[in-house]
Amino acid sequence: MTGLLAAMIASGCSVSEDQEKAIGQDAAAQVEREAPMITEPQVSEYVTRLGSALASKSDDRNLDWRFRIVDAEVVNAFALPGGFVYVNRGLIEHAGSASELAGVLGHEISHVLLRHSAQQIEKAEKTNLGVSVVCGLTNICSNNAARVAINVGGAALFARFSRHDEAQADSAAVGVLMRAGYDPQGIVSMFAKLLETREQRPDLVAGWFASHPLEEDRIVAVTRVIRATSGADAPNLVKDDRAFHEFQARIHALPPSPPSPAPPGGSP
Ligand SMILES: [Zn+2]
Repeated sequence: MTGLLAAMIASGCSVSEDQEKAIGQDAAAQVEREAPMITEPQVSEYVTRLGSALASKSDDRNLDWRFRIVDAEVVNAFALPGGFVYVNRGLIEHAGSASELAGVLGHEISHVLLRHSAQQIEKAEKTNLGVSVVCGLTNICSNNAARVAINVGGAALFARFSRHDEAQADSAAVGVLMRAGYDPQGIVSMFAKLLETREQRPDLVAGWFASHPLEEDRIVAVTRVIRATSGADAPNLVKDDRAFHEFQARIHALPPSPPSPAPPGGSP
């Protein structure tokens, strides 16, 4: 638990945008101190470029976005309040195209735009049960940030997102991709791939499924949103590009990720 978060819960105030940013900054510093990160600019540059292109077309709060790669084989991505988005190396290696990676980034960006984490904190305050409840919800109090980040994702810093939040982030992601010129079908094919991987290597995607409940019905629901969105099948929307595959090759060429620590709290 960060000091600021604890103080806010104790005071029972609602979460302002400045506080949201400060909480995100605090949590991001903790994650980056403890989780192995890929920092070579020539590798990470692609995620920064793609993420910024997606976020800038949809963000009307002018947040200071940051996109970073966690050097972990397990497939995961997460966002912290205020515009900090993390994607694990394993997810990049599993993505098949630029629009699939854009689909995941668009989903995480949407959690930030919709202030889902801030709402979680506000909800915890309203229960008036104080810090211990939030600790129970979050794992962060008794586990180190790296384990939480790699295996469960930033959602665990606050609480896992509800099905409602997930559905809302999925449909917002359709607009995020389209405004930046990417084919929203990438969301659907990435989700389908994650479900497929769950059949073959459940250990690799357990964290994603713990922090982002994902079932077939979510794929059906996003498909419905895409069908109902005019222009979603425009032929000029980008499905893939060469830069993505060059980026993926640079990721593949890196030394293997350090072994991932065990998931926090036993099983996710
Ligand atoms: Zn999510």
